[in-house]
Amino acid sequence: MCGILGIFGNGNVTPELILGLTALQHRGQDSAGIVSFDGSFRMKKGLGYVDGIFDERTPEEVQGYCGLGHVRYATIGTPDILNAQPFAVNYPFGLAMVHNGNVINFAQLRKSLYEDHHRLLDTSNDVALILYTFASQLEMKDLKNLTVDDIFDTVEATQARVRGAYSAITIIANRGFLAFTDPHGIRPIVMGRKYTDKGLVYAFASETTCFDYLGFEFVRDLGHGEAVFIDQNMQVHQRTCQRSTQAFCVFEYIYFSSEDSVIHGRLVASERLRMGRTLARTVREAGIQPDFVMDVPNSAYFFASGLAEELGVPYRRGLAKNHHIGRSFISPTQQKREIMVRQKVNPLRDVIRGRKVAVVDDSIVRGTTAKHLVRLLKSRGAKEVYFISASPPIKHPCIYGIDMSAKEEILAAHYAPGEIAHYIGADAVVYQSLEDLRDLYADLPCCFACFSGEYPTGVTRELLNDIEQEKLCAKR
Ligand code: AMP
Repeated sequence: MCGILGIFGNGNVTPELILGLTALQHRGQDSAGIVSFDGSFRMKKGLGYVDGIFDERTPEEVQGYCGLGHVRYATIGTPDILNAQPFAVNYPFGLAMVHNGNVINFAQLRKSLYEDHHRLLDTSNDVALILYTFASQLEMKDLKNLTVDDIFDTVEATQARVRGAYSAITIIANRGFLAFTDPHGIRPIVMGRKYTDKGLVYAFASETTCFDYLGFEFVRDLGHGEAVFIDQNMQVHQRTCQRSTQAFCVFEYIYFSSEDSVIHGRLVASERLRMGRTLARTVREAGIQPDFVMDVPNSAYFFASGLAEELGVPYRRGLAKNHHIGRSFISPTQQKREIMVRQKVNPLRDVIRGRKVAVVDDSIVRGTTAKHLVRLLKSRGAKEVYFISASPPIKHPCIYGIDMSAKEEILAAHYAPGEIAHYIGADAVVYQSLEDLRDLYADLPCCFACFSGEYPTGVTRELLNDIEQEKLCAKR
């Protein structure tokens, strides 16, 4: 998973790119990079957090009237600098690109790029696949007289070849600024604009949260399969290119997006509140009557408060959080993950002692977090602990950019809730029902593949195996 931002304006856009990336930092912390264009491309990338990579000299060194920024959370490809985005090529045009998502037909694309277009990929990052595919399709046009239709045709040809989830932003040197999504619109991408003393400025980003910080007005979400091109005169052109059934990733609302972002007209915090309220149905059905509801900080707050409201019991903060600890989920070994989880939170003893506690988290994947928390809460005197997952049981790996580990590690792929309760030491484990979640999104076609195994792009068993192998290989 990644965060992307592109700004197209008049003055130097780099200070705003850096600021905007900090607001997207939750989407990726493995690496960050920016590229600017001002007649030529200038690029700076590094490993780690945005504020550790860019400093006060960066706006001067990487200046440009348009630019792209990226924060990376490696799902396929190793988290090293070679794979950090943005990527740029100089043929047939100067092109620079950032993307968020996951390309699934990488083996076939790599082969055809080499055999048909003599382009050899020197990275395992899939933005190179999209960029090289785009470039090799663009070079077949009449480059001297390139038209807007040529650009949209190139997007269509790219979408026809690249399978998976992608929201991409591209600088086409001296021609303009382009954004497009995959035919299902799996990953979010929003468009914004603002008027400054230097004129009109446009932006595209993964989420609206960075628009708020940068003072951009939200224009709209890009539709599935849509491309928007802004030419050098700031004229906006649009085309619905390759379009399939919409399948927006519901996990963006559950976990990934920031609670202050609005995606497809829905504030993420409000979505979590709705999901929390709906959870009350399965909690009641399980016959659970907690004294209070608490959350696993931070993404579960709105689920927990919605559930508490609906059950008519108080919400309490039961855990203090150490904000200076990294992410446990993607630590390379189980032992390291367990150590990190242990250092992350600390129960508020008086709040939990002798009480029946419903703990809400956004999801259970390997069960590392849940197992540790249940043990911790019980060791600090909780009478009963019910572990509540705001998402339905995750049973299938995500192949579209959310790192949920290999299928063999996913608990609910192999065990029923009762067995999982036993494994994590809880008095009960309750999940959101998939039917309830689908009902909540009856008016927004979403991807539920990690719960149902129905992949909107279609997949074969061999392809799933290839993706799993590629992931495991990168992790090793
Ligand atoms: P686990 O501990 O393996 O069961 O993973 C569940 C925990 O990881 C929950 O606390 C989630 O907030 C968090 N989580 C779920 N999905 C992801 C993801 N794709 N990347 C990072 N963290 C995640």
